[in-house]
Amino acid sequence: MREWTYSPVTEEVVRDLESLVGRRNVATDREKLLSYSYDQVPRFSWDEEYCAEVVVFPETTDHVSAIMGYANRHRIPVTPRGAGTGLSGGAVPFKGGIVLSFEKMRHILELDERNLTITVEPGVVTSEITKAAQNAGLLYAGDPCSGDASFIGGNVAENAGGNKVVKYGTTGSSVLALEAVLPDGTVTWFGGKRRKDATGYDFAHLVVGSEGTLAVVTKIILKLQPLPGKVVDLLVPFPDVRTAIDFAPRVMREGKVVPSSMEFLDGKSIRLAERFLNCTLPHDDAGAHLIIQLEGNDPEVLADDVERVGDLCFAGGALEVFVADNRTTRDKLWKARKCLAEAIMAFYPKYSLEDLVVPTSEIPNLLAETTRLAAKYGVEEANFGHVGDGNVHVNILFPEEREGWHETLDALLDELYTATADMGGTLSGEHGIGLKRQKYMCRVMDRAQMDLIWRVKLAFDPNNILNPGKMISCPGRDD
Ligand SMILES: Cc1cc2nc3c(=O)[nH]c(=O)nc-3n(C[C@H](O)[C@H](O)[C@H](O)COP(=O)(O)OP(=O)(O)OC[C@H]3O[C@@H](n4cnc5c(N)ncnc54)[C@H](O)[C@@H]3O)c2cc1C
Repeated sequence: MREWTYSPVTEEVVRDLESLVGRRNVATDREKLLSYSYDQVPRFSWDEEYCAEVVVFPETTDHVSAIMGYANRHRIPVTPRGAGTGLSGGAVPFKGGIVLSFEKMRHILELDERNLTITVEPGVVTSEITKAAQNAGLLYAGDPCSGDASFIGGNVAENAGGNKVVKYGTTGSSVLALEAVLPDGTVTWFGGKRRKDATGYDFAHLVVGSEGTLAVVTKIILKLQPLPGKVVDLLVPFPDVRTAIDFAPRVMREGKVVPSSMEFLDGKSIRLAERFLNCTLPHDDAGAHLIIQLEGNDPEVLADDVERVGDLCFAGGALEVFVADNRTTRDKLWKARKCLAEAIMAFYPKYSLEDLVVPTSEIPNLLAETTRLAAKYGVEEANFGHVGDGNVHVNILFPEEREGWHETLDALLDELYTATADMGGTLSGEHGIGLKRQKYMCRVMDRAQMDLIWRVKLAFDPNNILNPGKMISCPGRDD
């Protein structure tokens, strides 16, 4: 068994890094190091403090290449970092070393209307891509709830999902090509502006979702779509969770439309949103709400779709169907949906935000199991998520400080992940494994798959310097 040993970041290393990227792009003051050492997984989740030894802010691909080449020669760990909105501890510098922050590589390089692509640097905020596409009458379909803060490089590394996956797929579905810097500093392109490619392995989509463990992404070519002419959101309260979830697949099966979003919030989530936003939402006494978004170009066809889906909702047990067809009402609705993670962070002293995904038919069973476990362990639950994709954010909440909360949470999660696996589900639909779920990988993967992941990792990164300790650990070798 090989032990991984890394070199510390000495003053000499800092001087070398400064000579590679300029002094203004290197930070070593303690406050800054700490602020670049965490993402949105709360610090109380970790048993120890993880801290970068140096933060570097590359401005170009050449900078990234020089840093990686240097780090590889000197065996210094490197953790790429986007906006730090991750919910799996992916950007936490588990082994110290260099944090590579992409906030200065934030340019939209090209919008190609002939090929319907946009080429961006990894530090561009997701919603800026949406806006740039919209200004050209086009749609960038990536839409995570964190889109006003997260970077596209982080979205690619996590294969972020969000609210439009049911129709357009995850971030990876929009990725056509990546410029990648390999851990030894080599720069290469995976993919291109072409829509099809059957030439060799699909490395671009291997790097998508690899959580910064295989290569550093320095440019991204994304696919754009036609921008729909009109969008309507339906807010549909149901008496209880099971009725809402059982109804959801009927929108596609009987309504014969693919909604661009189909989101679910349980009653507790609705009330959390109201408290956080200090507002009142319609029918806040309901057991569950669905948000169903329909879009189209022909107003008459869209009106027909809305009417048909609305009728179906009533037939499926809905208490009411509220139609939001203007910007103000739609924004209010989505604000409520998008604030939920922040509301939990604000109101609960200890919590765990989960990201389970099961075949959609299993969602009621998953939620029933969550309720059973919450009662067994004496905690609260609030559940919401992307019901169209089977991706449920089960959230385990401790309403007050409790001795031994960490052990309670570990035991509960172990049971929950095992039950999820038994339903044909898995640990994460969009937030990734990172540091948070790594120890549970064996619940959903056999040894053969984990060995394969490890061998792929070593093929890219033989010295294990790139984001070591994330996603999977090789016992005795990685930590
Ligand atoms: C309120 C809230 C709502 C959220 N809603 C959603 C949602 O709806 N859908 C969803 O999918 N996620 C959601 N998230 C999670 C998070 O926003 C996403 O995972 C996002 O993609 C992370 O982007 P980031 O720029 O913050 O990346 P970071 O957290 O900084 O990093 C994430 C991972 O990407 C790697 N990385 C970053 N940049 C690069 C690069 N250039 N090259 C290689 N690796 C890199 C890092 O090493 C790390 O492993 C939410 C988070 C919050 C706090």
